[in-house]
Amino acid sequence: MEPPIISTPSLDHDFNNTWGIILSSTETKNRPLAGALFREYWNDPVSAERRYSKMLCQYTDMFEEFFNGWLPISYHGHVTDAMCPTTTASMMLRLSMFEMAGCRLGRPTSNPELRSTAAKRLGWDGIHLSAPCFALIENGYGAAMGPLASISPRSAWRDVSTGAPSIAVRLADLVSPPVLLRTLTDAKWGGCIGVIVEIVQNQASGRVLSPHELHSLREACTETGLLLAVDEALTAIHCGAPFAHQRPKYSGTVSPDLVFFGKALVVSGVGIRFDAPFTSKLGIRTTLDRRNTLEVWQYTGTQAMPMPLLISALGALEMAVAGDWVGRSKVIGRNSRELVSARDRRLGPRGLGGEDKVLGGLESFIFVRIEVFTTFMVMVATNRGPSTGWVRWLPRLDAHLMEEATLASILSATGTEWWKSFSVALERMGMEPEWCFWCGNHARNTRDVWCRTCCINACEVAGCLEQLAMHQCSKGKKS
Ligand SMILES: [Zn+2]
Ligand SMILES: [Zn+2]
Repeated sequence: MEPPIISTPSLDHDFNNTWGIILSSTETKNRPLAGALFREYWNDPVSAERRYSKMLCQYTDMFEEFFNGWLPISYHGHVTDAMCPTTTASMMLRLSMFEMAGCRLGRPTSNPELRSTAAKRLGWDGIHLSAPCFALIENGYGAAMGPLASISPRSAWRDVSTGAPSIAVRLADLVSPPVLLRTLTDAKWGGCIGVIVEIVQNQASGRVLSPHELHSLREACTETGLLLAVDEALTAIHCGAPFAHQRPKYSGTVSPDLVFFGKALVVSGVGIRFDAPFTSKLGIRTTLDRRNTLEVWQYTGTQAMPMPLLISALGALEMAVAGDWVGRSKVIGRNSRELVSARDRRLGPRGLGGEDKVLGGLESFIFVRIEVFTTFMVMVATNRGPSTGWVRWLPRLDAHLMEEATLASILSATGTEWWKSFSVALERMGMEPEWCFWCGNHARNTRDVWCRTCCINACEVAGCLEQLAMHQCSKGKKS
C-alpha cells in the first residue's frame, strides 16, 4: 500500500509543546524586535552585549505593561530554582537593606546592624534568616528537588527533598479563617516566610481556586505577616488573562506580593509588586526607586540571564501581544472543551457524564479525564502518570487552531484504515508513534510493541504497557 497523503486530518497532535513552553510554531514573524536582535547577536556578540542593560530594561517595560504592573525581578534556570525560600529571603533582605540605605545604586557594603534592622522591618527573626521555608497548599506543586519536594505528592521526589521542610496547608482550611490563621501563625514562628498557591491545582484534576479561597488566604497572610506568592508557571497566558490570578473573578482580592513564572514566558523567575501588603513594608514607592531596586538585585550576579535567553523571552512577549494570545487561549480552550464534552456524550455509558466530571483547569490549560482522553490521539503533558486519572492539554495558541474545524480534525476519531496506512507510512520512515496512548507522555519504550492497526504506542510507566497489551485490538501487533 502506498503511504497516505497526510494532509488530513491536521497533524498538530502535540498538546504537550515542551510542557507549555512553545505557544506558537507559526508566528515567528510576529517578533521583529527579537528577530533583529538575534541576527545582531549572532553576527557580532561583543557589540550586542554592550547593549545588554538597555535590552533588559526594554524587557522589563514590556513585562510590566503586559502583566499590568508586575515587574520581573529575579531570573532562574527552572521555576523550581525561583521558588527556593532561601533565595526569596535573601532577595527581600537585600531590598529592605537597599531602601534603608536610601535606594542608592553602587556596590553594597557589609553592615551587620543594617541587616538585623532590615530583617526586623520584614517581621523576621533569626529562624527566618537561617532556615526560611514556604507553606504550600496540600497536593499542590510537586517540586522535584529542594525544600518544596518535602511535601510533594510524589514519594520519589520527597526522597530527595533537602533544606527546611515546607509546611502543608489543608485546602479545607482556606474557608475556615480561624483555623487558617492559627496554622499560618504557627508556621510563621517556625520560620515560614510566605505561602505559595496555585490558581489551577496542577497535580490532579485541575481544580480552580475560588475567589473566596484566594481572598481568605490573602487576608490571613496579611494578618500574619507572610508573603503571598502565586505559582503562575503553567497558568500565565494559557488561562484567559495575563496571569490567572488577574481573571476578573479575582478582582475583589488584594494583589499577591510575588508571582513565580516560567514555561510560556521562556525564562523562569520571580515577579514582584511593590504595593502589595507585604512588599509595601519595603517603602519603595517611586518608579525610579523601583527600577533601581530591580537592578540592585539583578546585578548581584554577573548578568540577570544570558543574552540569547533574554532575546527569546522578549520575542515571546512580542508574539503574545501581536497575536492576542490571551484572547486566543479563551477561544482555543472553549473549542477544545466542547469537543471533549461531545466525545464524552458520544461514549454514552462508557463516558463519565458531564463537563465537570471530564474537564478541569481554565481556558486552554485543560485537564481531561483519562477515560475520555484515551479516545483521542494526542500527545499531552501528563503530570503524575496514569494514576491520577487526569492528563493535561497545553495546545499551542497558533491562529489556525482558532478554527473549530481544524481542532475537530485533529481530535477526530479517524477510521481504522486511515491509522493503519499511517502506521505503514511511519514504518517506512523508520519511525513509530511518539507518545503513549494511555498517559499521553513520550513513548519511551524500547520493546517495539506498538500497534500497527491502531497506530498507538505506550511508555514504560507501570500500567501503560499493560494497557497496550490489553487494548481491544489484538491484531497488527508485532510482538
Ligand atoms: Zn504512559
Ligand atoms: Zn490496536
